[in-house]
Amino acid sequence: MAGTGFFFDERCLWHSTGGYALLLPVGGWVQPLDGGGHPESPASKRRMKGLMDVSGLSAQLDVRSAPPATEDDILRIHTRDYIRTFKTGSDAGGGILGLDAPFGQGSFEIALQSAGLAIGAVDAVLTGSLTNAYALSRPPGHHCLADSGMGFCLLANIAIAIEVAKARHGVERIAVLDWDVHHGNGTEAAFYGRPDVLTISVHQENCFPPDKGAFADRGEGKGLGANLNIPLMPGGGSEAYAETFKQLVVPALQRFKPDLIIVASGFDANSVDPLSRMMLSSEDFRLMARVIKNAAAELCGGRLVLVHEGGYSEAYVPFCGLAVMEEISGHRTAVEDPLRLPIAGQQPGAAFNGLQRKLIGEMAEALR
Ligand code: ZN
Repeated sequence: MAGTGFFFDERCLWHSTGGYALLLPVGGWVQPLDGGGHPESPASKRRMKGLMDVSGLSAQLDVRSAPPATEDDILRIHTRDYIRTFKTGSDAGGGILGLDAPFGQGSFEIALQSAGLAIGAVDAVLTGSLTNAYALSRPPGHHCLADSGMGFCLLANIAIAIEVAKARHGVERIAVLDWDVHHGNGTEAAFYGRPDVLTISVHQENCFPPDKGAFADRGEGKGLGANLNIPLMPGGGSEAYAETFKQLVVPALQRFKPDLIIVASGFDANSVDPLSRMMLSSEDFRLMARVIKNAAAELCGGRLVLVHEGGYSEAYVPFCGLAVMEEISGHRTAVEDPLRLPIAGQQPGAAFNGLQRKLIGEMAEALR
């Protein structure tokens, strides 16, 4: 019987981002960090897989790799010039592609592997060999543009997987829900004029990229109405996200009627992430996964794929990731999240929640 897949490849953890202290290139006044470096490090992902292994969850899943994406696959989204620049730089030892997208020796082939995991996960779910699946893709993809890297993203993993799936399987309507704390600008850009791919991004307003992710950006031409940005105030917590899913995300999916739902699954809206200011715990990620799994069951035969994006707290991403994997697979482990209750005790009060609910209500009203 089909179950939940987990697409993983050790090579993805070998992608190197070079000499950074958080986002600051080392040198000048910036001292190298002892035992650390750039936030887009392998540790948060390796530790997520580690917790899944020791808790016994991995044994309940179909853990597999997938072939790397081919050049033809990535040409469905990226320009030839970009691919050539990336490959040449990667062969020569690394560099930076666009805003905040550092890479190292061999990162091009690793990025092909990362996109390949997303392609493989979508493929397995569309052919019915898996009910749903998670791709632990690294480097991430949702900021990447056709002709430029951005925000740690080197290939547009989800957009590539969508185009490959459309070519291979003729799947018509695909919805992408991006719950990474940053705006999913790359996925938005790939499908901004298209009515067949609904892109929804829930993000901290004015976080990254600069000046992107406004509610007013609804798509263009035939794609008008098939892009939905939901900017949330910094500090938003459990209630902001629960209301957003209830009033905006689920109704948008119900209106669109997708054949497949893909989640851009960043874990950086958690309360201790170094690159954002939202207030979620693993329990909130569990609830979001439950809502989206139920929506997939209602709307598209349960066909659901999650592709890893951001999440930079090495200590806490594993608990958030485990909760999502437990929820989509239906297997609970004995793991207790040690931060769940402290974070629950730090949630915004009635004044903030009231204002946030009003703003979410106004967005929902504008869509009616
Ligand atoms: Zn992010």
